[in-house]
Amino acid sequence: MKVTNCDERIHVLDSSADVMTVIRDISNSGVQEEAFYVLDIGDIVRKHQIWKEKLPRVEPYYAVKCNDNLTVLEVLAALGVGFDCASKSEINKVLGIGIDSSRIIFANPTKPASHIRHASAMGVDTMTADNESELHKIKKLHPVAKVVIRIRCDAEVAQCPLGMKFGCDPTHEAPKLLHIARMLGLNVVGISFHVGSGCQDPPVFQRAIRHARVLFNLALDLGFKPYLLDLGGGYPGATGTSIDKIAEVINEALMECFPTEDVHVIAEPGRFYVASAFTLATSIHSKRYVRQDPTSPNTVTHVMYYINDGVYGSFNCLLYDHQRVTPLPLKKACGKMIQSSIWGPTCDGLDQVVENVLLQDMDLGEWIIFENMGAYTLPVASQFNGFPVPKVHVVADESVWLLLKDAFPLTEDHFVIGNTPATLRLGLDIGGTNMDTWNNSGIDLAPPEMLAASPVATASFLYDYVDVDRID
Ligand SMILES: *Cc1c(COP(=O)(O)O)cnc(C)c1O
Repeated sequence: MKVTNCDERIHVLDSSADVMTVIRDISNSGVQEEAFYVLDIGDIVRKHQIWKEKLPRVEPYYAVKCNDNLTVLEVLAALGVGFDCASKSEINKVLGIGIDSSRIIFANPTKPASHIRHASAMGVDTMTADNESELHKIKKLHPVAKVVIRIRCDAEVAQCPLGMKFGCDPTHEAPKLLHIARMLGLNVVGISFHVGSGCQDPPVFQRAIRHARVLFNLALDLGFKPYLLDLGGGYPGATGTSIDKIAEVINEALMECFPTEDVHVIAEPGRFYVASAFTLATSIHSKRYVRQDPTSPNTVTHVMYYINDGVYGSFNCLLYDHQRVTPLPLKKACGKMIQSSIWGPTCDGLDQVVENVLLQDMDLGEWIIFENMGAYTLPVASQFNGFPVPKVHVVADESVWLLLKDAFPLTEDHFVIGNTPATLRLGLDIGGTNMDTWNNSGIDLAPPEMLAASPVATASFLYDYVDVDRID
């Protein structure tokens, strides 16, 4: 991994700037061609505040697979969130930012042997299982593990159902697994489930929590001392969605089934924390007019736009995560709406981002923005056909900076308020009106004549173009 913490530094915005002004500043700079993300860590902080308010008894363990961006992990760690890891390398990534192994749950019910050995060596003890052979494997490779039995309880409607792959039947299989674990002398500490990602059936949480209560009782009868209830993931996170209804169902079910505080309740939200924090900016590099009206051969009936990110990159979420995306032209256009389609950059016909949408005519070089691109996008993106995965520019407003700058594992060094180390600057820096206050006098950010000529002299923040490899 070539990227250091410094390469994902967080750019502190003053109160007049927001994600859209940052996107405008970067895209209008004249030096930006490739697609890029803006990650607003304030959005993650606000999500955490919502979680704390709505689900005060439920401790979040962020599902790393959803978006393993280093800054995301660091911000969540600073907020005190735990982590749900599914593999050796996710465990390493979280340990690598200084998180204690006790704040990790290894929540993959089917784990390769070497990954269990690694968890054991690293002190990651809490892990899920949903089948007999996994229990035998854990017995052999990590006999003192704290085992959580994952049951199946599916939402009737979910963006990504998981039940056909994971979770044992709560009434027939789970009791058997408890007996087997008892015979093996394993330490069963609790019950988990995952109702499905993008759950649209809040009452499913009540059904699942009731199943868990029955199994807690059985575990107690068998001599276990269960203390952990893990509600899994499934909570929506895009702008305009809410966890209110799910939280209400969960809180009521906890009151009914687990009224005392001695049971530790956790959840594994992924999408909830990151979906709305990432905004993707893409630019149009090619376009094609289609004329298909035989009675009017010169009339454009459809416009095809080709942008620099597609289904092999960030928009893999269309295929794997069944997401729908809404294109927002950055420039306010005028003129009549035309039926349009948006395509990714690769040479595969499958690489279509939006099939049919009404848009005003746009030129090459114009930008199309996609919001809510934080969940199940970047970690899955490939460089197929040689098109790079977009870089992430991280921003925060001043209040977020003040809140987080000293909260481990973040330090002041994670934030840039103008003092970009010269050695990391390979490209162009463009300064704004706050240049003077933010400038570190010891470092020459850019020649004055360039600043004077800068087309974005009114920009309210500083950013740099750091040409580094993406994080693998
Ligand atoms: C993917 C996953 C999650 C996160 O699910 P979201 O729907 O994104 O909240 C949580 N737990 C486990 C075990 C998962 O596999």
